[in-house]
Amino acid sequence: MTPDALANERAAAAKALQEADEIAVSCHIKPDGDALGSAVGFVRAAVAAGKSVTLSFGEPFELPDYFSLLSLDQLVRPEDFPAAPEVMITFDAADRSRLGSLAEASAAARTLIVVDHHVTNDGFGDINLIDGTASASALLTFDLIRALGWPIDPEGALGLLMGIVTDTGRFQYSNTDARTFRVAAELVEAGAHPERIGQMVYENAPFGFLAVAAAVQNRTVLEADISLVWSELLSSDLAAAGIEAVEAEGLIDHIRVAREADVAILLTETAEGTKASLRSRATVDVGALASTFGGGGHARAAGFTFEGPAAVVIERVREYLRDR
Ligand code: 5GP
Ligand code: MN
Repeated sequence: MTPDALANERAAAAKALQEADEIAVSCHIKPDGDALGSAVGFVRAAVAAGKSVTLSFGEPFELPDYFSLLSLDQLVRPEDFPAAPEVMITFDAADRSRLGSLAEASAAARTLIVVDHHVTNDGFGDINLIDGTASASALLTFDLIRALGWPIDPEGALGLLMGIVTDTGRFQYSNTDARTFRVAAELVEAGAHPERIGQMVYENAPFGFLAVAAAVQNRTVLEADISLVWSELLSSDLAAAGIEAVEAEGLIDHIRVAREADVAILLTETAEGTKASLRSRATVDVGALASTFGGGGHARAAGFTFEGPAAVVIERVREYLRDR
């Protein structure tokens, strides 16, 4: 989207939101810090502006513990979300299917506003604020709130800063630009405390996580000929350690440190099949690789869920990497 087109969409979104009495707010399923952090940042501002707000996300209705840091007063179960909202706004969802069980509500919404930073997003809203150059959806959310002239309180600022911190890997990924630091600075000025995010998101695992991480690391395979490092997180690892799947997120960051590989993949055994997290250092566009499995994401970070075993996934990945 060109800057002019984006500015037009932002103005249209601001108008629709100003005129609405009730706003339904959502983000992608299995929310990460950017998805729910952006949503909470927006919700705080909308509530302060006098709007009646409902926040939810599609099944499964469960969250990693670190989200207890955020103010979630408006959060309701997906079945209690309006079936046909007057105005609905989604954060960080690259396509309608990423809304899971709220996809139908988004299709029935009178006005759907999509705020996202995935380059693959083709604009499934009536109004689309999509900017693939933004390091986090939280940056676009910040710009929208400013365009509305709504206040950003410390709780809202904390949500938006969580989005930036998590989607930039603590300000270290290639998407971390000057604009990212400028918005982060404004959020700290608005009252967000970075150390609360650091401690809650990155230093807050149950003890059993260490055993799960050890099992996953021990199972890691390096395929140097195709510059791939990968591992599996098994349901039995979680059962043995007595922890839930949501408490074992982020293990891809343990795998990707191997400098011998450009591509790092963690395959997680789930009820639906295999969930894949993909990262790349420099060369392979893992978003394109994920899209061959019906998933997506960014060039350096992507994901998908495959209805089949890990062995099938990894064999198809090998073929893809060999043929490129
Ligand atoms: P993660 O590995 O942290 O779950 O996801 C990394 C990136 O890939 C995120 O930007 C996320 O939006 C994207 N992603 C993860 N899973 C999926 C998926 O199933 N479909 C799509 N389209 N994107 C995904
Ligand atoms: Mn994001």
